Amino acid sequence: MSESAAILVVEDEPNIRDIIDVALRFHGFRVSAVPNGSSALAAFRSEPPDLVILDVMLPDIDGFEVLRQIRATDEQLPVIFLTARDTVPDTVRGLTLGADDYVTKPFSVEALVARIRAVLRRTSVPAEDDRAQGGTLRYADLQLDEARWEVRRAGVRVDLSPTEFRLLACLMEHPGIVLTKRQLLERVWGYDGSSQVLETYISYLRRKLDPLGPPLIHTQRGIGYALREPSRPGF
Ligand code: CA
Repeated sequence: MSESAAILVVEDEPNIRDIIDVALRFHGFRVSAVPNGSSALAAFRSEPPDLVILDVMLPDIDGFEVLRQIRATDEQLPVIFLTARDTVPDTVRGLTLGADDYVTKPFSVEALVARIRAVLRRTSVPAEDDRAQGGTLRYADLQLDEARWEVRRAGVRVDLSPTEFRLLACLMEHPGIVLTKRQLLERVWGYDGSSQVLETYISYLRRKLDPLGPPLIHTQRGIGYALREPSRPGF
């Protein structure tokens, strides 16, 4: 998919918009580039892209609101925020709205393209042939079926996004062991990225898994996360 993936670029600064447009076309992506939030939503509705590059500060509705409206109809569409350095804390909060990643301005075009490729890889469900080799991971009352791309807890089907699925698979491959934030970022995100993004996705997983039983994902403060069975009374 990624060679001809359709990217929607939302950026009000014409020179930055043009640079991204030209660079992404050069790398073989299909691109539509728009200057504000309302035209972004119009473009999203008329021809849904495979990924959105979304500037946070826009002249009409800001990137957070654009994302909120996209998420109302599409929970899975990968979105990467573009943000100025001094708005990074806001952007990190914005990740809880369901962005996949963010890139801080000024950025190199190569870094942006690498990030797009990583996000597309991570957010896509592998082809059936590739999945067929996968087995089933089991831990406590969790079951993750790589061939069917399906997760169950206590027998109940849990709907995970591809990134959440990959993150849980990584934890289930190493049960009881603390994986560092760096290890998880490298294995799931494919680069040594922002730990806030990881923390956000851990919270998504907990929100989906914890209603079905005792918490299984444990935080090792300052280090990382581990999958651990709750200690039972009397043990
Ligand atoms: Ca802007």
